Amino acid sequence: MSGGRMLLNLKDKIFPLFSLKEKCNLLCLVFLSFSLVGCAALGTYNPATGRREFIVIPTEEEVSMGRSIHNSVIGQDPISHDKAQTARIERIGRRLALVSDRQDYKYNFYLIEKDVINAFTTPGGNIYIYSGLVDKLQSDDEVAAVLAHEIGHCAARHTIKRFQAAVGFNIIGGLLLKHTEMKDSTRSIAALSSNAVMQLVVSAYSRKDEYQADKLGIKYLDLAGYEIEGMLKILQFLDKESRGPKIPLILRTHPYVPDRIVAVKEKIAGMRGVAQEF
Ligand SMILES: [Zn+2]
Repeated sequence: MSGGRMLLNLKDKIFPLFSLKEKCNLLCLVFLSFSLVGCAALGTYNPATGRREFIVIPTEEEVSMGRSIHNSVIGQDPISHDKAQTARIERIGRRLALVSDRQDYKYNFYLIEKDVINAFTTPGGNIYIYSGLVDKLQSDDEVAAVLAHEIGHCAARHTIKRFQAAVGFNIIGGLLLKHTEMKDSTRSIAALSSNAVMQLVVSAYSRKDEYQADKLGIKYLDLAGYEIEGMLKILQFLDKESRGPKIPLILRTHPYVPDRIVAVKEKIAGMRGVAQEF
């Protein structure tokens, strides 16, 4: 029996076993599988990572998610009233944001008043740095390095990819099948408890993401006219702090510091064109 005939016989034997609804679901599943493979292959080119990426949450939805998460963040830890330091963070941040590979949303930089060593980013381009960290940094170049690393996470879309992974295959399938209901992604994320959302915000990035954010951060420091050595200095500072009595909070989200120091040294030496002793 030929392969084609065998397949037809198999179809005649198996297909009647399913109800009309089940057949429709089966067809949808086949369509969805092909759509997912197709979209992953096509995707959208991300200049920050140099790869095609499959992002289904539109920027406008990401920004709206960022706004609601912002309320949770500042509900927990207040924004600083120090006008001079706030203006300094915004000035440095804006200079770096101008050279970011991602320009489809506006970056916002917030100084949080709390004596802890912390900084993180949330979907929608909101970047938070804590006064406890700013107070310990020696120069604008070092503050710029922290912000440039966070912008690196934004540009590589690391943050939104984690949210996308959390809402899972179901919502992605729904978005592919019903293009008009893009807001489902936000609804699905809104259905997550505020605890779950904050858990996502403060969960650790992978080693690969950290390397990439450092590399992008160095690129943005250079393009914006800051000292690229600032990235190495903040990592060395965090490494030293991590051996002290209080582990810096920033290490929960941005781990692998010793390995990153090695990679950053190599990157800087490569850019300077000479092997440097640090
Ligand atoms: Zn990081």
